[in-house]
Amino acid sequence: MHSLLKPRQIHSSIFDINLMSLWNQGYQNIIIDVDNTMTAWNRYITTPKLKNWALIAKDIGFRICLLSNSNQSKVKQFALDLGVISSPVGGKPFPRAFRSALSALGASVKNTLVIGDQIFTDILGGNRIGLYTILVDPIDKREFIGTKLSRLMEQLVAGRRYVCKSHRQPR
Ligand SMILES: [Mg+2]
Repeated sequence: MHSLLKPRQIHSSIFDINLMSLWNQGYQNIIIDVDNTMTAWNRYITTPKLKNWALIAKDIGFRICLLSNSNQSKVKQFALDLGVISSPVGGKPFPRAFRSALSALGASVKNTLVIGDQIFTDILGGNRIGLYTILVDPIDKREFIGTKLSRLMEQLVAGRRYVCKSHRQPR
């Protein structure tokens, strides 16, 4: 069980992920969380920096599918603004959520990455079906009340140490 909670990579933000290196290892698809991974919780704003990230990923060749447990119509609009697709259903960490994203991408388990900020949804769900998982720090401390409880569990069960940007110690 414990290994299912471990991501393959950990980064401060999506901007720190070396996409080219992952592409060179054979990964071609990205399933990515929205709230607190791409944008602050419940703030669906596509900044130029985020749009540029999506453009770079697509230029490399990656296909991107947003997978969120939030309001699906908001997520769909966010995906349209970014020029990517979104999964028709949420429901992380259950396998059907990830399988629906894989099928929307026309992707296989072997060539797909999962990027997200939550261990018990993004990482656990991705690991359960054998996807390559990447954990990022949450963008904002503000989040859904249910997520706050999950954060406590992440620290207790998975030993996660939080380094939110506003609280990051100087290196
Ligand atoms: Mg999230």
